Amino acid sequence: MTVRVRFAPSPTGSLHLGGLRTALYNYLTARRLGGIFTLRIEDTDRTRLVPGSVENIIKGLRWAGIDFDHGPERGGPFGPYYQSERLDLYHAYTKKLLETGRAYRCFCSPSTLTATRERLARMRSNATYDRTCLHLTDEEVARKVKAGEKHVVRFNVCHSDTAVPRKDPIKDLVFGALQDGHGSLPTDPILLKSDLFPTYHLASVVDDHEMKITHVIRGEEWLQSLPLHIDLYASLDLEPPNFAHLPLLLNPDGSKMSKRKGDVQVSDYIAKGWEPEAVVNWLALAGWGTSPKSSGIPDQPDGAMSMDELIQKFDIEALTHRRTILDPGKLTNLNKQHLATKIQAATNGEPSDILTRAENLLRKTYPDR
Ligand code: GLU
Repeated sequence: MTVRVRFAPSPTGSLHLGGLRTALYNYLTARRLGGIFTLRIEDTDRTRLVPGSVENIIKGLRWAGIDFDHGPERGGPFGPYYQSERLDLYHAYTKKLLETGRAYRCFCSPSTLTATRERLARMRSNATYDRTCLHLTDEEVARKVKAGEKHVVRFNVCHSDTAVPRKDPIKDLVFGALQDGHGSLPTDPILLKSDLFPTYHLASVVDDHEMKITHVIRGEEWLQSLPLHIDLYASLDLEPPNFAHLPLLLNPDGSKMSKRKGDVQVSDYIAKGWEPEAVVNWLALAGWGTSPKSSGIPDQPDGAMSMDELIQKFDIEALTHRRTILDPGKLTNLNKQHLATKIQAATNGEPSDILTRAENLLRKTYPDR
């Protein structure tokens, strides 16, 4: 079986370090296992699109030496690779879910929904919707649709088939066996919005299936959606892929990484002249851990490693689920080591851009000499 992984950013801004690490781990997995790495642009939330994001993401990946096999500009057998160009597919899957009763149309207006949510919260209920529209008759639904009433499509989480308690816990390659997390999900999450664009949940499940993805490697922030995704696969009679969620990256003070606390965008590292190999090495080690199964991977190796070495040593199942501190001191250290390797290579007459770069720097610093 061919291993297929994907990096699936939303074009809502610049590529940041967390995104680059996710892309890198996907890339290392693909290259290590002789698989295919796909770039998929998840642009279904039309309100959050930021022009230029896709170019910025692709530029960041190229700078880091991460090339994708299928995706925008490059094509591939399962394209198009922009979700906004795949709407027919999501509509076909929605139709299937509606026909089997696993989804239903909801005509509640935003103001009704807000009032319902507030009422449920006052009653200290965990529910976020009272499922009014689940009880509409087929005739009522048909009449409303015919009259062009705006509506969304919701997943019927409590459908008799999906509500059966699972025999085995859901397993994540990094986080291990998970407790049942259904309680923290919204009631009957929306799958198709009133603008006829799918939500992330439906689009990612459909595409991961259609693109034959074998391993979904993504940020920890999606772990809580995993039970919903597994239910969606079951409702569509599809085999789910393997999942690996990557722990959050933290600032040295243990806080969540944010722009206010330092450079988080890849473009900052490009502009400041860090060696891409050092940044890649630094991110690769952020989450690198040991497991009994690890194939001789040392815990947090501190020597510099090239991309080829990272590929050889990478093991997705040996990653830690502990949140990881990104220490800028380590980057400085790795940068020196990678620079030294490049200088050594140039001294040995091997091809290297370091001499041209040094020459340009000298000319700029001493223009009159
Ligand atoms: N579009 C999601 C994001 O940008 C990707 C989540 C996933 O990889 O499934 O966070």
